[in-house]
Amino acid sequence: MALIVQKFGGTSVGSTEKIKAVARRVTAYQQQGNQVIVVLSAMSGETDRLTGFAQDIQEIPNRREMDMLLSTGEQVTIALFAMAVKEGGSDAVSLLGDQVAIRTDDMHTRARIKNIDTRLIQKHLDAGKIVTIAGFQGVTEEGDITTLGRGGSDTTAVALAAALKADACEIFTDVDGVYTTDPNICTKARKIDRISYDEMLELASLGAKVLDIRSVGLAKRYNVPLHVRSTFSENEGTWVVEEDKIMESMLVSGVTYNKNEARITIKHVPDQPGIAAKIFLPISDAGIMVDMIIQNTRDSHLTDMTFTVMRSDYARAIELLKEVADEIGAESVSGDKNIAKISVVGVGMRNHSGIASTMFQILAKEGINMEMVSTSEIKVSCVIAEKYTELAVRALHDAFALDKENMPAEEE
Ligand code: ASP
Ligand code: MG
Repeated sequence: MALIVQKFGGTSVGSTEKIKAVARRVTAYQQQGNQVIVVLSAMSGETDRLTGFAQDIQEIPNRREMDMLLSTGEQVTIALFAMAVKEGGSDAVSLLGDQVAIRTDDMHTRARIKNIDTRLIQKHLDAGKIVTIAGFQGVTEEGDITTLGRGGSDTTAVALAAALKADACEIFTDVDGVYTTDPNICTKARKIDRISYDEMLELASLGAKVLDIRSVGLAKRYNVPLHVRSTFSENEGTWVVEEDKIMESMLVSGVTYNKNEARITIKHVPDQPGIAAKIFLPISDAGIMVDMIIQNTRDSHLTDMTFTVMRSDYARAIELLKEVADEIGAESVSGDKNIAKISVVGVGMRNHSGIASTMFQILAKEGINMEMVSTSEIKVSCVIAEKYTELAVRALHDAFALDKENMPAEEE
């Protein structure tokens, strides 16, 4: 017998027909002798619809009332789901976040879960019921309803699995798992069977289509095995687990890209202590996040500094830096919005060298120039011109044979 949390997203419960289908599936699973907690999202489009109502009335809606409003979407689906289970002859009970209680802080519209009381859930499970819980919501110490931020139902599911010490948390959605790269770009993209939490976090842009990536950090912290899979098929999806639980760690697990960043270069800044701090302080004060940073070593007393920011922050960052450049006597501030960051990710890199040089060779063979490089223990990222994104992704996917079932890393 297993204790499993199963979470179904908005498209999986988007109509009463779909809710009935989910109820049949969950009931069958329970009848095999398992205990099941079902976390549901609102019907697809519902949270947007409610947000629209609020904005018709208040340009910037009151955050407490916004939570009161948005949390209703999930109340609808859990009630209908419980009815569908009962109609099928089994027993279920629906619970809101405050009934459970899922306690959060009071940061309305982006609250964080502090703790979960599992007693009521346990009581209903022991009575043989399927317990269905509204995703995305909680309650403050004072009894005010909160929501966890868009996409927050995945976090509800993982937090419940952690609190209940469940055997696994299954995230059901409309795609069948995490792929080695974006299948829209590369037809050879293959579904990954097992991947570590850290790889999943690095492959966020691929994973984002399947689950809210914030929930992966939580799963890692509490060591909750995650299974992301399709509502519309019985096939296994992708398991996200501890690194030790993966028998053969792959040299490279996936190739990902990010077109949301822009590059900025400040030329000929004095090469002396305090300059970097002067450059980045106004940037961070403006709430602008910096990703990659490169500083060159030069033989004169001047150096160049290059870094990336979110594309949406590009204009503001350039403006701020022009002021700083005058102050510190830099030669110029320039940049490029049309870049892409391409990354290869794999835990096998930890004890294997040569991934970066292979990556450089492949890009060179395609005539793609690298503007920046950064590495971590399990990732190599290159900044290239945006127009080469698709070409680079396909070439790297081929070079690391990601379409093949198995290319485990050999220990060196
Ligand atoms: N219904 C919420 C949203 O659309 C929460 C979720 O689906 O995870 O963002
Ligand atoms: Mg979602």
